[in-house]
Amino acid sequence: MNILVCVKQVPDTTEIKIDPVKNTLIREGVPSIVNPFDGYALEAAARIKDKNPDTKIVVVSMGPPQATAALKECLSIAADKAYLVSGRTFGGSDTLATSYILYNAVKKIEELEGKFDAIFCGKQAIDGDTAQVGPEIAEHLGYPQVTYGLEAELDGDMLKVKKEVEEGVEIIGVKFPCLVTFTKPAWDPRYPTVKRKLAANRAEIPVLGDDAFPDIDTSRIGLKGSPTNVKKTFVPQRKTGGVKIQESDGRASAQKLFELLSGASII
Ligand SMILES: Cc1cc2nc3c(=O)[nH]c(=O)nc-3n(C[C@H](O)[C@H](O)[C@H](O)COP(=O)(O)OP(=O)(O)OC[C@H]3O[C@@H](n4cnc5c(N)ncnc54)[C@H](O)[C@@H]3O)c2cc1C
Repeated sequence: MNILVCVKQVPDTTEIKIDPVKNTLIREGVPSIVNPFDGYALEAAARIKDKNPDTKIVVVSMGPPQATAALKECLSIAADKAYLVSGRTFGGSDTLATSYILYNAVKKIEELEGKFDAIFCGKQAIDGDTAQVGPEIAEHLGYPQVTYGLEAELDGDMLKVKKEVEEGVEIIGVKFPCLVTFTKPAWDPRYPTVKRKLAANRAEIPVLGDDAFPDIDTSRIGLKGSPTNVKKTFVPQRKTGGVKIQESDGRASAQKLFELLSGASII
């Protein structure tokens, strides 16, 4: 079985602070981590490999050269091979453009590694948070998709996915090739081993750059190819203070409170 895991490098949001003047995120000095939901997707693939040792796990990330660190971390945990998708023309891509580039990357990597039976993604990235990229890749590929996966195992010619739903869990059988997005399961992902960490540090990660996809439709990538327009971003101000009612006696204070609440159409 051949599994591709899509991994995004994200800022560690537990370390992010807001600039009180500019109201923007202070990213300087904030460490980057593997998006936690992608870690669950990798662990789900690793658990399939535990039971089916001939499974190959390939990871791919689109991002700047620093994203190599996230890929090396995946290699140190469970991945067999990693690819970085990085190019100037990809910068400024919104979710639709990102998923289109990753779809092209799937096709390119399949030429090198063989066809993927399953593509695993995180449910969402903890920075962008849109949860759109996984389902969009499935749509580009025309694959069936299961979202909110908790666990997955092989079941004949299908993948059996335990999926979180509001009422509990559902078990869904999905035919290959398919795409699954993963959410937080009950267990923690495994840690890297020292041996794998050393090998990952030495690993050369192939980069698929601007010229790797000669057939890509350049009108669908980058800022120009992104239909999303961010009009404005802001941090909501925390409301402070309140109205103190202190009339001559309790009855007058109650009357004042009534006037204020009815004036504001609350009662
Ligand atoms: C107008 C606009 C301009 C933007 N410009 C930039 C920019 O210049 N630079 C920039 O870095 N971002 C930019 N972004 C953000 C960028 O679009 C998103 O970070 C990206 O599309 C992923 O979306 P998300 O974070 O919501 O991921 P989600 O949809 O929440 O992610 C779901 C899953 O998809 C997979 N996935 C998502 N992104 C990647 C990735 N890059 N590589 C591999 N797998 C992935 C992971 O498995 C992840 O768990 C821009 C967004 C908009 C709207």
